[in-house]
Amino acid sequence: MTESAARLRGIEARIAASSLSAGRVVSDVTLIAVSKTYPAESIQPLLEAGQRVFGENRVQEAIAKWPALRDHYRDIQLHLIGPLQSNKVREAVACFDVIHTLDRESLAQALQREIARIGRKPELFVQVNTGLEPQKSGIAPVDAQAFVRTCLETYQLPVVGLMCLPPEDEEPAVHFALLARLARDCGLAKLSMGMSGDFETAIAFGATHVRIGSAIFGPRPAA
Ligand SMILES: *Cc1c(COP(=O)(O)O)cnc(C)c1O
Repeated sequence: MTESAARLRGIEARIAASSLSAGRVVSDVTLIAVSKTYPAESIQPLLEAGQRVFGENRVQEAIAKWPALRDHYRDIQLHLIGPLQSNKVREAVACFDVIHTLDRESLAQALQREIARIGRKPELFVQVNTGLEPQKSGIAPVDAQAFVRTCLETYQLPVVGLMCLPPEDEEPAVHFALLARLARDCGLAKLSMGMSGDFETAIAFGATHVRIGSAIFGPRPAA
């Protein structure tokens, strides 16, 4: 087994243990292996170890890496976890199965148009800026409910949950609790929250999708 495959098994075990201690069903937590910045050669051993759900934060990088891997492993599920510019919507809808970063009405409109055009319908998460950080995208918590309703009713989009990326210098639990409450208020079942450093806390607060990169792949190559 490669080092990364061994780390994957370790993370899976920790996800199972924290699900159990939170009184949750292990299969309700999806592990997204975040492969951004890692080349196909680093992804291959994880595919061989059975991992099928991956996350990328850039549309161009995903398009460069994944079509060839998908020729060999047909049941791959690809998640976009980084910001989506409106001029990349066409490529994103064609490439990704799930998009976690719906954060503005103009994007909702562009997604609706493209989904109708090609008849492919990725599941969507609305990103919430729980820390109200100016450098981060996401809907403000007070606007989340109205925005979700607009996406569902006006644009008929398949919104399934909420996503957040807590401020690095704050206790993540507060943000996870807030996101869980907002999702409940919106009537949404899924929560994309938790990364390498805080996924066990996120699972305790109801995460259904944890996004884990460096704890599986090792330190990211410098950009
Ligand atoms: C990079 C990234 C992750 C994974 O981060 P790690 O700390 O490497 O686990 C999760 N979510 C988003 C949005 C990211 O950009």
